Amino acid sequence: MKENTCAACDCELDSTRIAVKIGGKTVEVCCEECAEALREAEVATRSAQATNK
Ligand SMILES: [Zn+2]
Repeated sequence: MKENTCAACDCELDSTRIAVKIGGKTVEVCCEECAEALREAEVATRSAQATNK
């Protein structure tokens, strides 16, 4: 896994990269939209796990 690509859309990161904390890990994304997408995905994952218990 490359470190210089967006965690959400896989495009290359530049100086506008944003660090997002997801489940205790910090990942970097290219824009606020991708950050929001990752946060929503994490919330969905968490509620799915809570429902399964
Ligand atoms: Zn992105």
